[in-house]
Amino acid sequence: MNIILLGPPGAGKGTQARKLVEERGMMQLSTGDMLRAARTSGTEMGKKVADVMDRGDLVTDEIVIGLIREQLELGHAEGGYIFDGFPRTLKQADALGELLVEMGETLDRVIEMQVDDEALIQRITARSTCGSCGEVYNDDTKPWPADGKCANCGSTDQTRRADDNAESLNTRLFAYYKQTSPLIGYYHASRDLASIDGLQSMDEVAQQIKDVMA
Ligand code: AMP
Repeated sequence: MNIILLGPPGAGKGTQARKLVEERGMMQLSTGDMLRAARTSGTEMGKKVADVMDRGDLVTDEIVIGLIREQLELGHAEGGYIFDGFPRTLKQADALGELLVEMGETLDRVIEMQVDDEALIQRITARSTCGSCGEVYNDDTKPWPADGKCANCGSTDQTRRADDNAESLNTRLFAYYKQTSPLIGYYHASRDLASIDGLQSMDEVAQQIKDVMA
């Protein structure tokens, strides 16, 4: 089963995608993670997108569609794909549809995670992640352990994303409402869109996702 997790920054797409990877052996395709990896490894593309990402704007459709194409060309994922943070524009959605047909794949569910702006701002400005395993922490609700080590993997590499600040977040939210939220109508019209309440606890959200994937 191939699914899209659709939602604004901070909706919990990455957290839920990681759970699905662990529990169902699905493959997470996060364009945000791929772009950050390109930056860390210092590729030309990574350098090109750095400023755009830090500002909170979207990188070009060509770049992210190329990244997804490369991944899909590696071969079929037995457990299915989770598209996380992709597509983000109507052009990307069209391109994904075409790519899936080309690869003989289907799109089975588009899951919209709804979270109001106030909660998103709280989550993002308090967010840190483990640089090693990707576990997500929140200064208020799930602080980084006092012994300095990630509770999941023991790494001491607590990181904060350069774009997790109030100014970039404004731009990212604006980009979401302007360029990405039209996809809700797009998938409502053409696919099996399910909307879930992303404000509940991580386990409750995971249960809702399970229900709509059943
Ligand atoms: P994310 O980790 O999904 O929040 O993405 C972080 C940043 O990467 C975004 O703010 C964009 O600058 C860029 N990005 C990630 N995915 C896409 C996409 N599908 N289209 C355009 N830009 C993207």
